[in-house]
Amino acid sequence: MYTKIDGKQVSQAVRARIAEETASLKSKGIEPGLAVIIVGNDPASRVYVNNKKKACEQTGINSFEYAMAEDTSTEELISLIEKLNNDKRVSGILCQLPVPKQIDEERVLNAISPDKDVDGFHPVNCGRLMTGCAKFAPCTPAGMVEMLKYYNIPIAGKHCVIIGRSNIVGKPMAMLMLANNATVTVCHSKTDNLPEITKQADILVAAVGKPKFVTAEMVKDGAVVLDVGINRMENGKLCGDVDFDAVCEKTSYITPVPGGVGPMTITMLLQNTLTAASDEN
Ligand code: NDP
Repeated sequence: MYTKIDGKQVSQAVRARIAEETASLKSKGIEPGLAVIIVGNDPASRVYVNNKKKACEQTGINSFEYAMAEDTSTEELISLIEKLNNDKRVSGILCQLPVPKQIDEERVLNAISPDKDVDGFHPVNCGRLMTGCAKFAPCTPAGMVEMLKYYNIPIAGKHCVIIGRSNIVGKPMAMLMLANNATVTVCHSKTDNLPEITKQADILVAAVGKPKFVTAEMVKDGAVVLDVGINRMENGKLCGDVDFDAVCEKTSYITPVPGGVGPMTITMLLQNTLTAASDEN
């Protein structure tokens, strides 16, 4: 028998705490605020931005949207970010990715003040994460750790295998799991004998971007499986990187898609915004 990790439930619990802490800050005259920048007309980005604004409203955090035209230049975007870096109403700044091709994404992310970098993508915050003193951990990995803790799933001493080494998921997840005393292995597209390695995992994280990539043969009996993948199928439905139906019976805990890791990402963004607001005062 396995337990399906309910990301919505964990998310609600964390958001309730965030709402309380926001109210407490407001009673002291501190107004947490999140600036969300969206460039262009990507429909998926629009959905994400709307969800972020809604989540802010629900928890009492102020949100400010800056919608910029598809043909915005890197300089124009950086100029807005510099204004927001100096805006007292803004505790956190987020630039919705991907940005249109003409924009230099790296320069844009580096322009956000590390103290307002609630996505945790600035090199200063990556460095802090690396040295074990993260101020803002990237939201998706931070959400996974929060879920493990909510379900009292032990991390210390466990072997965590992560498939994927992106800067926003795989690598920061490795750092967070190390900080929580797991033994960590990071796999990627050049890894030899992947199933042999994944079969050793007590905690297996799939962040590949390929539907049903993780099959039952790749999973140890009793493993905890966290599925980061969000793949849109031809029928319009979302599918994770794990073949849920084939794998679930082998696991002790597993996240579904949707309703697993996804809901936690925005929740940790709110948490980081609150941290930014508390720290600046
Ligand atoms: P990237 O495409 O940046 O990274 C994918 C990683 O998977 C790379 O490190 C790549 O290896 C590795 N990989 C690809 N093919 C294989 C293979 N055959 N064997 C082993 N490793 C492989 O993706 P992201 O990390 O940004 O995202 C991963 C998934 O998570 C996506 O589906 C994305 O939509 C989803 N996602 C979900 C979020 C949420 O809130 N739930 C947030 C962010 C992402 P290499 O480095 O060698 O190329």
